[in-house]
Amino acid sequence: MATSLYHSVIFGPVQSRRLGVSLGVNLLPNDDKRCNFNCIYCECGWSTPGEKTRFNDRKTVRKALKETLVRMIGRGERLDVITFAGNGEPTIHPEFEAVIDDAIALRDVFMPTAKISVLSNATRIGVESVGRALGKVDNNILKLDSAFDDTVRLIDNPNDPNYSVAATVENMKKFDGKMILQTMFLRGTFEGRPVDNTTEKEVAAWLDIIADVRPQRVMIYTIDRDTPAEDLHKIPVESLETIAERVRALGIECSVAG
Ligand code: SF4
Repeated sequence: MATSLYHSVIFGPVQSRRLGVSLGVNLLPNDDKRCNFNCIYCECGWSTPGEKTRFNDRKTVRKALKETLVRMIGRGERLDVITFAGNGEPTIHPEFEAVIDDAIALRDVFMPTAKISVLSNATRIGVESVGRALGKVDNNILKLDSAFDDTVRLIDNPNDPNYSVAATVENMKKFDGKMILQTMFLRGTFEGRPVDNTTEKEVAAWLDIIADVRPQRVMIYTIDRDTPAEDLHKIPVESLETIAERVRALGIECSVAG
């Protein structure tokens, strides 16, 4: 299917379903997707294997972000959020914390009301500098698509053979609730195996984790664009709302993007 990459350091601004008017920052290569997950639903397509990655370096990112913010101010454009997302996992950038520090400094000068968001798969939150950087941003948005290792392996395909939900959850708890938990719900088949993280078993175990982590907010969503795996299906918005109500019953805000 026709998945797509972001071909620049800065992209947008776009109207995000979840974040408002969002200016994207891509720390990954402009022509290649690099991630330590390989989600079957990833809008950027399949991950490129191999260790060598040409990241967008810190100086380039700072310059591009500054120029864009200055241009937007000149045009009187509104901005709700600067979002680190792009062609893969932003926290694998070797200077991630320094890049975040630069973005905060630029935001404070040029767009003081804009939030800074990072969309991460949470695999590197145990790395000290990454955890510290995520602690500084307004929206620390961390993915958890299932409470079960087997389901995460099926849906998200982590590179790390030792990936574990339990370890990820323990690291999430270190943020003391200063994080947003994000989950993609979907159904279908992949390589002959059924995919469905909306079963009662899945949702009940996922809710137990939410009750334990107590994030400031939960964001749930479903497929919106083409996916690299072909036989995947959207979850109806009514079903997402039913799941969201169960999150809200725990006293935690939950937004739905159907
Ligand atoms: S974690 Fe995000 S960027 Fe990485 S494969 Fe999954 S959806 Fe794509």
